[in-house]
Amino acid sequence: MSRRSFAAGAAALMASLPAMTVPAAAAGSGAAGAKPPSSDLTTQTSGTYQFKVGDVRITALSDGTVPANLHQLLVGTTPAHTDALLSEDYLTNPVDVSINEWVFALGDRLVLIDTGAGGLFGPGYGGKLVASLREAGFGPSDVTDILLTHIHTDHSGGLMRDDQRVFQNATIHVGKLDVTFVLNRSNAANAHYDIKYFDEAIRTVKPYLDAGKVNAFDRTTTILPNLVASLHPGHTPGSAFFTLTSGNETIQFVGDIIHVAAIQFPDPSVAIVYDVNPTAAVAVRQQTFPQFVHDRTLIAVPHMSFPDIGHVRTAGTGFEWVPIAYVNRET
Ligand SMILES: [Zn+2]
Repeated sequence: MSRRSFAAGAAALMASLPAMTVPAAAAGSGAAGAKPPSSDLTTQTSGTYQFKVGDVRITALSDGTVPANLHQLLVGTTPAHTDALLSEDYLTNPVDVSINEWVFALGDRLVLIDTGAGGLFGPGYGGKLVASLREAGFGPSDVTDILLTHIHTDHSGGLMRDDQRVFQNATIHVGKLDVTFVLNRSNAANAHYDIKYFDEAIRTVKPYLDAGKVNAFDRTTTILPNLVASLHPGHTPGSAFFTLTSGNETIQFVGDIIHVAAIQFPDPSVAIVYDVNPTAAVAVRQQTFPQFVHDRTLIAVPHMSFPDIGHVRTAGTGFEWVPIAYVNRET
C-alpha cells in the first residue's frame, strides 16, 4: 500500500470525529475538585490510576480519548484485514484511542511523561491532563521535568494554554532530532506532513526553547538518577524510550511504537500515517516486541486503553497485550 501523507491522515482523523455534544467540564480546563457522577461517557470520573515500580509511585493520567478511523489511518493493511483483527477483540471501526501520560516523584523532582493534546484537538477531544494531574494531587507548577516521548500534537500540545506555558517550572527533555525536525517548517514538504503540525509544535515547544527550558538529547542519556532516555527513531526522528529503575523493578515508557493493540500486536508490520518513517517504525516494533517478551518488560504505551500499563506476550505468529491487574485497596 502506498505511503499515505500525514495531512491525509490528520484530515481523516478530524473527519472521523463524530458530532458530539461535549460538556464544558469535559474539556479539561484544569479546574480542580470533584465532578458529579454521570453516565455520560464524556465525563468519566477518574482520570488517574496509581501503581508502584520499586519504591516509585507512578500515576497514570488520562488526557481523554479520541475516535480514530483506522480504515484511513493504518498503512500496510486493508480495511477487511483491519476489521477482521478488530473483530477478534470485539471492536468495530472507528475505535476510541486513549491519550495517556504518567507522573511520578523522584527525590525532589516531579516528572511528567508527555502532556496530551491541550486544546489543539478542539473541545472534548483530549485536553484533560491538567484536571487528571490535579486529581492526582499535583498542579502544573509542581512539575519540574517533562519527558516527551516525541513531538506530536497529542504528546506536546498540552505544553501551552492561551499562549502561556502551562508548566512554568518545568524543563522539557526530548530527542534532539524531533526538535530540529518540527521547528523547521520546510521539512513539511519532504515529510508530507501537514504544515499545521509544524505550526502546532512551534507554538507549543518553541516558547520553552526560548525560555532555556529544553534539554535536547542525541544519544542515550541519564535524565535523572535511575531514569535513562534512549532513542528509537521511526515514528519520529527523535522518538525516545524512558526507562525508570527502582530496586530490581523497571518500567519503560515507550511512546508511539504502537497505536492499536488489536491490530499491531498480531501484525507488527502494520504502520500508521503518523509514522514519519513507516519502515523504521515497523522495524522498531519487530525488534522491541520479542525483547519485551524475553525480558518480561513492564511497558507504558500512550495509546493503549487507560492506564496503558502492561506486558507483551507471544500469540500465534504475533503478539498480544496483557494489561496489569487492577488494584484498589490501601497498601
Ligand atoms: Zn501519539
